[in-house]
Amino acid sequence: MYLYNHLPAGALLSPLLLCTNTWVATASATSQSFNGCNQLTAAGLQDLVLLPQSDAYVDREASYWAANVPLHPDCIVQPRSTEEVSRVVKVLAKANGPVALRSGGHTQWAGSNDVHKGVTIDLGRMTDVTYDTHSKLASIQPGPRWGDVYQELLKYHVCVTGGRDGNVGIGGFLTGGGNSYYAGLYGLACDNVANFEVVLANGDIVNANATSHSDLWTALKGGSGNFGIVTRFDMYTFPAKNLWGGIRAAARSKGDELAQTMVDFTNDNHKNPEDAYIINYTFNPGSSSDILVAYVVVDTNGIVNASAFDKILKVPVVVDDVKTRTMANMANSYLLPSDQQQVWFSLTFKNDVRVIKRAGEMHDKLVSELKGLIPAGNFTTQCLFQPIPTLFAEHSVQRGGNMLGLDKVKENALLWLITGATETPEQQMIMREKLTAFSATLEKFAESKGLTVNWQYLNYVDETQNPLKSYGQYNINFIRKVAAKYDPSSMFQKKVVSGWKISKVDA
Ligand SMILES: Cc1cc2nc3c(=O)[nH]c(=O)nc-3n(C[C@H](O)[C@H](O)[C@H](O)COP(=O)(O)OP(=O)(O)OC[C@H]3O[C@@H](n4cnc5c(N)ncnc54)[C@H](O)[C@@H]3O)c2cc1C
Repeated sequence: MYLYNHLPAGALLSPLLLCTNTWVATASATSQSFNGCNQLTAAGLQDLVLLPQSDAYVDREASYWAANVPLHPDCIVQPRSTEEVSRVVKVLAKANGPVALRSGGHTQWAGSNDVHKGVTIDLGRMTDVTYDTHSKLASIQPGPRWGDVYQELLKYHVCVTGGRDGNVGIGGFLTGGGNSYYAGLYGLACDNVANFEVVLANGDIVNANATSHSDLWTALKGGSGNFGIVTRFDMYTFPAKNLWGGIRAAARSKGDELAQTMVDFTNDNHKNPEDAYIINYTFNPGSSSDILVAYVVVDTNGIVNASAFDKILKVPVVVDDVKTRTMANMANSYLLPSDQQQVWFSLTFKNDVRVIKRAGEMHDKLVSELKGLIPAGNFTTQCLFQPIPTLFAEHSVQRGGNMLGLDKVKENALLWLITGATETPEQQMIMREKLTAFSATLEKFAESKGLTVNWQYLNYVDETQNPLKSYGQYNINFIRKVAAKYDPSSMFQKKVVSGWKISKVDA
């Protein structure tokens, strides 16, 4: 959920990307990993394979959210069912060359969900969403987007703890944690998965839940793609009430006032678990030539002007889009533009207003420097804070626990995320340098004040960060043990190269 960023989509195709594309198309016939594509065809799976010459291949590469992410694999394989995932895995386990895995393809760093020379397993054709009135579980395949899921579940008047931006994918979100507007009531989204259907490295299909393969169930809640391919998520549901919420934006001069409301809201979230709040220092010349402090307020019970927001709502705003709406409407109303070059960094801090204020000041300076380096209209920034109260981890513990290690964080915290979007790879390099420095400086400031929390959210961080390591030694060991048990050949460490790998954690 990222606020007040409505630049039109439609990035410029850079010369660099065009070069890479052509090169891959010619090189693929001789590359070692062509073997993977050949083997899939030889196994009778040719109907599932997309080659670079096809329109369908081009469409799927264009469907990644960030323009810096498509790596143009030798081929894409699109299984349509769990059984086909199993067949694909069995073939690729024996073939040469690297493999990547994607669900929604929303992760913003290159290497998270695609591979340059190799095969990408694309789960985008597995889009079933069903609801069982008896168990009250929603069964969701990894291929739809959260907006589709909410819309489908509305037919049954139920909802789930899904993404706040309707285009976000299912598989990465749910195996990486998943922060939703409902986290105060039900915990993180991964804690709301009752059962994962998983294809293991040997092609076996297992169900992981509280009573069967329970170690795998726990490990998949935050342990990401280290164990197998999840082909169905069975999630707890709750009644789909209308919520009251949306985006507002205030002038930059209101930043300190709003910063204090974020700290107060986070400390009081246990009294108002049905409410959610995010603030965002943002520069988006498509919407305003000034830096604004945008924010989201949501009352998931639909209470208009809910009392948890009393102080917040007194701050004058220049934009107001808060109303009564469905979750589907909310998620589909705020879609962050795709096709841009993205850089994100994320850290966690103690719930203290000094960090927010300092980040706001640093963001002012950042924007002013970027204006001298990147043409106006070619970049946007967001510097967000959202609550991570201890309440979230309490829900997790009650629901069987997860891998994130937030239960070790004994005080309320703030999750910080900075994002920088640009139009070209050259501009992205400038943005990367600036945001790397920003993150390091803010971290040092927090350290100097005793305000650091050694925890990183896997679904937000930059590729240079180390989220799995921040989940603590016990959880690192647990993930390692479960990965070794269910994937003794290390296929999801060595061959499936996309995403965060426990084998790369040096602890
Ligand atoms: C615009 C935007 C809004 C966002 N909003 C939120 C938000 O509100 N809350 C939040 O918590 N996060 C949010 N995020 C972050 C989001 O959770 C991650 O980007 C997430 O990884 C997206 O899921 P995906 O299915 O698209 O992942 P993909 O990019 O497709 O996959 C990433 C990795 O996840 C793993 N993976 C994916 N599918 C499977 C599977 N089926 N089985 C096993 N492993 C799998 C693999 O390791 C894969 O390499 C947002 C991101 C964006 C860009």
